[in-house]
Amino acid sequence: MTWETVIGLETHVELCTKTKIFCSCTTEFGGAPNTHCCPVCTGMPGTLPVLNKKVLEFAVKAGLALNGEITRHCKFDRKNYFYPDLPKAYQISQLYLPIARNGRVPIRLESGAEKVVHIHELHMEEDAGKLVHDPWLEETRCDYNRCGVPLIEIVTEPDFRTAEEVIAYLEKLRSILQYLGVSDCKMQEGSLRCDVNLSVRPAGSMELGTRTEMKNLSSFKAIARAIAYEAKRQIELMEEGKSVVQETRRWDENKDATFAMRSKENAQDYRYFPDPDVPPLEISEEYLEQLRREQPEMAEEKMARYQREYGLPPYDTQMLTSQKALAAFFETCLSLGSDPKQTANWIMGQVLGQLSAKGIEAKDMKLTPSTLVTLISMVKGGRLNRNTAVKVFEAVFDDDGDVEGYVKAHGLEQINDPEALTAAVEKVFAANTQSVADFKAGKEKAFGFLVGQVMREMKGKADPQAVNSAVRKKLNAER
Ligand SMILES: [Zn+2]
Repeated sequence: MTWETVIGLETHVELCTKTKIFCSCTTEFGGAPNTHCCPVCTGMPGTLPVLNKKVLEFAVKAGLALNGEITRHCKFDRKNYFYPDLPKAYQISQLYLPIARNGRVPIRLESGAEKVVHIHELHMEEDAGKLVHDPWLEETRCDYNRCGVPLIEIVTEPDFRTAEEVIAYLEKLRSILQYLGVSDCKMQEGSLRCDVNLSVRPAGSMELGTRTEMKNLSSFKAIARAIAYEAKRQIELMEEGKSVVQETRRWDENKDATFAMRSKENAQDYRYFPDPDVPPLEISEEYLEQLRREQPEMAEEKMARYQREYGLPPYDTQMLTSQKALAAFFETCLSLGSDPKQTANWIMGQVLGQLSAKGIEAKDMKLTPSTLVTLISMVKGGRLNRNTAVKVFEAVFDDDGDVEGYVKAHGLEQINDPEALTAAVEKVFAANTQSVADFKAGKEKAFGFLVGQVMREMKGKADPQAVNSAVRKKLNAER
């Protein structure tokens, strides 16, 4: 029998507001344990949570960008459960009236096929703290710094059939949220984490099988591997005539397997009820209209515009818009008068190369557009040859160093002196008669050697094109 895998996702995204959802504590990542909290976010009796307006704004912006319907009258509910990372013993979340519903996210797969992922809902909630396990001391400590950090949870319909679709969706979601500026989506710091609901059914069947939930997957690699493992495990159970148990399973990165954690809770287990401390929200049409107007140009719109306005190939536009800060860098270069295709080539080659070598993102780099533009114009004006320019680029990349100063200090400026070039060619030919003879005997390889020697004689500062033609001319003359 052939089986079909059915996957739905719940994605938790930390919003990058400065302060927490219901108090004015900082949301900054890290910090000494229990230094980013107050009586409100640690749930002391008698305190009153007050909704951070920015959280609502970010959630509505995300809802609009995911093409959802915004719930004009919405409210918060208490989700009650006891766990040591939750000092209040309830989480303020939204069950009955989430801020957005019925969204749609179009995705594109590697084959070029397109698919629409339906968003069931998007709701606001507060994050819980963290438990830090110390196996050495055999103890567990509570850090409440993360309590009350604002989250949106985005729940899809069970629309995915493969891990590839899941990853394509998450990449799209991350791009949308980063362009909106509502989250940094750093998976390594837990600001984007995924719960994967998965079931299998005979291909062609319309009924959903029993699903399991894998919690808190925090890298694309872990998600893809967990999906592959769990689908295979369920199919094997079904083929043996056994049944899948509805439960929460933990993905163990090191063992490459999922393990049962606990039986799955249902909504009634949490005894939800409307939170009496946070008043319901009424969202006006004017407010929505204002946020709609503020929506930025997204990656896909930029890609289309770069193709249309600058004639760049789709691959280039995809690379340039892969990070919001990179696209902004590119656009600033153009506003300084740089040529679109040359700038794109430098960004895709050198800038992305340095970023990946240094393991940083475009938004964290020090290099400024004006430095790159200076370098590009020096190449264009014949003052630097391309190889030297790449070396200069690497030297100034880390601290946005002074290109002109560096070139002067190291005497790197290209020599465009025909006499010096002729002298160098004469010298190299005189010193390498064997290579000259080899070339005349038909060994084309000798040509490259002679060019290299002349370049060396010019200390790498000559225009490679000019060296090439000077050597060619000299050889022709000797023939
Ligand atoms: Zn607080």
